[in-house]
Amino acid sequence: MITESALRSFERMETPFFYYDMDILRRTVDNFASTLSKYGITAHYAVKANSNDRILRTISGAGIQAECATGNEITLALANGFPAAGIFFDGVAKTDKEIITALKAGIEIFNCESIQEIEVIDAIAGSMGLKAAIAVRVNPDVDAHTHKYITTGTEEDKFGISAGAFDQLFATLARCRNLSFQGIHMHAGSQITDMSVFANIGKKAAEFEKIFEDHGLQVKLLNLGGGLGVDYNDPLGNWMPDVEGLARAIADNLPVKPGQSVHIEPGRAMVAQCGHIISRVVYVKEGLKKKFAILDCGMHTLIRPALYQAHHEVENLSCKAPIEKYDVVGCVCESSDTFAQGLEGGAPHRGDFFAIHSAGAYGQVMNMKYLQRDLAPAIYSDDI
Ligand SMILES: *Cc1c(COP(=O)(O)O)cnc(C)c1O
Repeated sequence: MITESALRSFERMETPFFYYDMDILRRTVDNFASTLSKYGITAHYAVKANSNDRILRTISGAGIQAECATGNEITLALANGFPAAGIFFDGVAKTDKEIITALKAGIEIFNCESIQEIEVIDAIAGSMGLKAAIAVRVNPDVDAHTHKYITTGTEEDKFGISAGAFDQLFATLARCRNLSFQGIHMHAGSQITDMSVFANIGKKAAEFEKIFEDHGLQVKLLNLGGGLGVDYNDPLGNWMPDVEGLARAIADNLPVKPGQSVHIEPGRAMVAQCGHIISRVVYVKEGLKKKFAILDCGMHTLIRPALYQAHHEVENLSCKAPIEKYDVVGCVCESSDTFAQGLEGGAPHRGDFFAIHSAGAYGQVMNMKYLQRDLAPAIYSDDI
């Protein structure tokens, strides 16, 4: 929420910047921690969604574990309070250097995505005199009903090992002496708001567990990945993600045996709604048929609309009335650099503050310096 006093303090700040409402973050993270502990599910925050130090420390401080996609994310997670013993290392392209970083740190699990990766981790662990704990990312072949670029769990994706390769997988696991097999990992995609998708993933996990156990592999760990979605259409009214719905969908569909642990890897749902881009209108342009509010941020600040046709609510913070119809566009010379088309909002003026909501996840982490523009800094509600 952007209060009147926050808005007043924006007056002395250069725009654009990311404004993080730390109260929303804490309440969201606390909801994850308390709801999941009720269901016996462990959360590993996907660091790639937002890797700012203060965000990471808030999340690690609530006792949430980390999921990392690179060696550098592992280093960053460790520096910000996440214990090595709870780090999951995911990714299709773990390099030798990153595998060594992870082994030296003593992370909990490598989530392996290909047979060749499993062989490489086995060889590197052997050369270091260590044993690597691994889980196998299996391809659940479920449709996440989400945008095609963020669907990751269908048979055709580059992620995970498909059932067709299981014979080769089991032969490889039997051969590798420096690995300890822990369990199964799945991740169906991102921005999933249909809880039946998680129910299906839970059912699939139980099916895969049986296949692995039939081949003599004890499944101690079941990791259902991330993907819980948020409400991009009503970010101020409905900011809390449906953690309870997710946990219940899993609990109702995945029987858990004694000694087994269940894990999820939420990224977006933990951080999306605490972040807002605050930007000023540089110019208002009257076209022949349309009016444009041209902001001082752009696709280099928030790439999701240009990359995934993602919708973010846009709000004129400075002027609520009269209502006019106009497009809100970014400052980059690309037509895809548009934040709202036909917005019905407060009339725009040069210098007005605009907020782009739900920008906490996959926002600042994807920033770039295209056109040699400055990177937008972070401003935290606790500081103003
Ligand atoms: C990106 C990713 C996540 C986090 O996804 P969200 O949609 O942000 O929850 C979790 N696990 C894996 C393997 C990922 O690639």
